[in-house]
Amino acid sequence: MALRKIVEMGEDCLTKVCRPVTDFNQRLHTLLDDMTETLAEANGAGLAAPQVGILRRLCIVMDMESEEYIELVNPEIIAQSGEQTGMEGCLSVPGKWGLVTRPSYVRVRAQDRDGQWFEVEGEGLTARCFCHELEHLDGRLYTDHIDRFLTEEEVEELMNQEDD
Ligand code: ZN
Repeated sequence: MALRKIVEMGEDCLTKVCRPVTDFNQRLHTLLDDMTETLAEANGAGLAAPQVGILRRLCIVMDMESEEYIELVNPEIIAQSGEQTGMEGCLSVPGKWGLVTRPSYVRVRAQDRDGQWFEVEGEGLTARCFCHELEHLDGRLYTDHIDRFLTEEEVEELMNQEDD
């Protein structure tokens, strides 16, 4: 396994629509292992392939309840409901935060590293993370949804609220 470099906003690879994964081979497994290691090292909640410069439809999302990483290959949201507004950041936009409204529940259909289809659902932060990472695969960042970044004071206040 190896750490991959996380690219930052401004790089072309973050604005491209990614192509489906078609080969479920060792190369894919290595990429998924590397992405998980990179995500853990960065202490993040999710990481999509374009963030490490690979224009393929796959991402890793942390299930906030079990704190386990979920590998999603060719994922799509098949159901969603509710609404939540909360603070969101991105490893490709370091040190910045914005307020984004997302569904409070989503159900995702995806393939695993061997090509088997499965479904997974998430609420709250996990749902937020699914939405955020899947958007990366279509070349979109959360910054598309915000008018401005939060100030340091606002971030601090919101972090304190979440701790309560
Ligand atoms: Zn992101």
